[in-house]
Amino acid sequence: MSFERTQEKLKILADAAKYDVSCASSGSKRSNASKGLGDATGMGICHSYTEDGRCVSLLKILLTNYCIFDCAYCVTRKSNDIKRAAFQVQEVVDLTINFYRRNYIEGLFLSSGIFKSADYTMERLVAVAKKLRLEENFNGYIHLKSIPGASDELMKEAGLYADRLSVNIEIPTKEGLKLLAPEKNREDFIKPMVKVKNEIIQYQSERKIIKSTPKFAPAGQSTQMIIGATGESDQQIMWTSNYFYKKFNLKRVYYSGYIPISYDSRLPQIGTDVPMLRENRLYQTDWLMRFYGFEVHEILNNEHQNLDLDVDPKLGWALRNMEHFPIDVNKADKFMVARIPGLGMKSVYKILQARQFRKLNWDHLKRMGVALNRAKYFLVCDSRDFERRDLTSPQLKSIILQNSTSKYQKILSPQLNLFG
Ligand code: SF4
Repeated sequence: MSFERTQEKLKILADAAKYDVSCASSGSKRSNASKGLGDATGMGICHSYTEDGRCVSLLKILLTNYCIFDCAYCVTRKSNDIKRAAFQVQEVVDLTINFYRRNYIEGLFLSSGIFKSADYTMERLVAVAKKLRLEENFNGYIHLKSIPGASDELMKEAGLYADRLSVNIEIPTKEGLKLLAPEKNREDFIKPMVKVKNEIIQYQSERKIIKSTPKFAPAGQSTQMIIGATGESDQQIMWTSNYFYKKFNLKRVYYSGYIPISYDSRLPQIGTDVPMLRENRLYQTDWLMRFYGFEVHEILNNEHQNLDLDVDPKLGWALRNMEHFPIDVNKADKFMVARIPGLGMKSVYKILQARQFRKLNWDHLKRMGVALNRAKYFLVCDSRDFERRDLTSPQLKSIILQNSTSKYQKILSPQLNLFG
């Protein structure tokens, strides 16, 4: 296989992989001055997080962008007139090792279109991981996309070689999936998730007894949903997330704003904005559910089916529930302190620790580095001042928005600046 042909395949298959946000692309700029394989400039390098929270750069590619399916929202769908390519198993192994040796990457994120059948494709994904582990002695991070419909045996093998497995549920509702991908079935996504969840539990319990038991998908499993391709509400999206987190012990749900790619009348037309800010609000809500003790129904319910775009979901909740405020940081429990807008969990823990030794006032909070610009309207401490005074919720919102124009009007990138 010529160097140029491999380069061309890499370009096509790294470009096709960028629509999967399960590891957010960061566009590495590391280039290769010599003639060797592996100029990583724009060639599918992304960042992801390992089991222990380390940020690693990954080679993010598809094994192939041929696909027997025709999901309307997907650039790889069979009816799309695009350049196609397919790597052989050994080519992916060689590329990974090559990039790894040059320090471009610490691991591999490998997904694929479905060619021939789910098992045929999954077999090849597993073969890449197996060769890397057993023949190349590769100990870097491997994230494999599970192919819906693949056999239990292949899923089991995949988990023994990969650090993380993921199955994309793609569209948040069954109805939306039926509309855009009628050949697909929600059950096909669920089956591999159940298998992976059960294997993780089983291997973990066996390891407690027999230390030499291998690890099974130690970084767990994740999924991705496309946002804004169908008309679902944020309430429906977050209930779906909640269900998948709880039912399948997912590590992460990723939300990917739909990028209009076709003139299909079932989808937003080409030129429609990608819902970046909505995507960011969904990540913030996800964060509130996983780390701040919020339940979906508190933030999204029949009276409030979509997230506010002008304020983050914690501030939105506070403004709709002013009866809970002000919260006394010297007395309230962790759960309530965490609900003060503007306070991240780091600040919450600092407050809980410091108040064991003294009653906290504004000065203490400032010196501890607690960001008070928003929080000051929602808390009381050991001081007479109470910044909110008699402001109504709309007045308070308007003051906060005026004071933080740049923060709220900027279109934020996903997963960043969550509550800072
Ligand atoms: S099966 Fe996957 S790769 Fe194929 S068209 Fe559907 S979403 Fe795209």
